[in-house]
Amino acid sequence: MNYTTLSWMTVGITFFCAAAFSTERSPRLTPDQALKMLMEGNERFVKEEFIHKNLAQEAADLKEGQEPFAAIIGCSDSRVPPEIIFDQGPGDLFVVRDAGNVIGPIELDSIQYSIQKLNTPIVVVLGHENCGAVHATLLGQSNVPELSNIFPIIEKAIKQCKETKGDLLKNAIQCNVKEGVRNLKAQPNIANLIKQNKLKVVGAYFNFDDGKVSIIE
Ligand SMILES: [Zn+2]
Repeated sequence: MNYTTLSWMTVGITFFCAAAFSTERSPRLTPDQALKMLMEGNERFVKEEFIHKNLAQEAADLKEGQEPFAAIIGCSDSRVPPEIIFDQGPGDLFVVRDAGNVIGPIELDSIQYSIQKLNTPIVVVLGHENCGAVHATLLGQSNVPELSNIFPIIEKAIKQCKETKGDLLKNAIQCNVKEGVRNLKAQPNIANLIKQNKLKVVGAYFNFDDGKVSIIE
């Protein structure tokens, strides 16, 4: 969706006036406004009240450039497409996906590009219920020889969860998300932007039964 349209719809006249007279390179949502937009989009997904009807035209309108308001590092799992579960259109989300939503060097570069070049005000590390990559890691690497680069990252993240009570898989998935958030927050430039309140990095969890995304505190 066109950024100006979004700002009219969700942020209102105050933000528009500030943006219109801003000398910044581009008017941006605050991290909290961006998070609110994502969660409102997820509410629309849950109610099946999708607002994007002309995706080809929305994409065509963005030919000259992009200003995604959120970056998502999510799992490649075919059931959890970020644009759909957050009800967003072309140009809204900068998405990086791999099995298990891990953050290795390539994923980190992609997220850094979004933050540094596109000024994205929020990064969400998105895990999901019944994640196959995390489940396979719990079972051991011999079960998933194909995940030779991903397995050690998830294994390291979930080690601390093995003794906790409750749902082992859910705990592991959430630990893996938290580790991704920690990893991102440990980057000096990201920590600096967070300190200046120009960026937020949050973990989130998608639940299949109700379609809701919840923030992992
Ligand atoms: Zn997954």
